[in-house]
Amino acid sequence: MDDCIFCKIGKGEIPSTKLYEGGNVLSFLDINPASKGHALVIPKKHYHTLLDMPHEEMKEVMEIVQKIAAAVMTTIPGTEGFNIIQSNNEVAGQVIPHVHFHIIPRSKDDKLNFAWEQGNAEQEELEKYAKLVKDKL
Ligand SMILES: [Zn+2]
Repeated sequence: MDDCIFCKIGKGEIPSTKLYEGGNVLSFLDINPASKGHALVIPKKHYHTLLDMPHEEMKEVMEIVQKIAAAVMTTIPGTEGFNIIQSNNEVAGQVIPHVHFHIIPRSKDDKLNFAWEQGNAEQEELEKYAKLVKDKL
């Protein structure tokens, strides 16, 4: 897409601090990091959401997500864990409509909070939703 910032980064039209580039995948540091070492992994081709991606490219992207996360864990000072965040559609917080995975290094006292309030569900409700989803697989 012509006006997509991640497509432009993927083509090298906008500079980025690259961590990895190969095949269909690019990883670079987020310029507005939630924590030090906050990385992004994107498919080079434009896909709006995860559901638009071919399986083979999805596998490539996930392999790099794992590699970058492993490298971040052992190199970014203070990192003791990480979150992977991937949002689909605006309602879920997707700001740039090009698939991207955030790898956010975590350390004690980093004050980041991705927690949500836990709800309750009756077994009947769980079974109803499980049937709906399973029937679509
Ligand atoms: Zn794009």
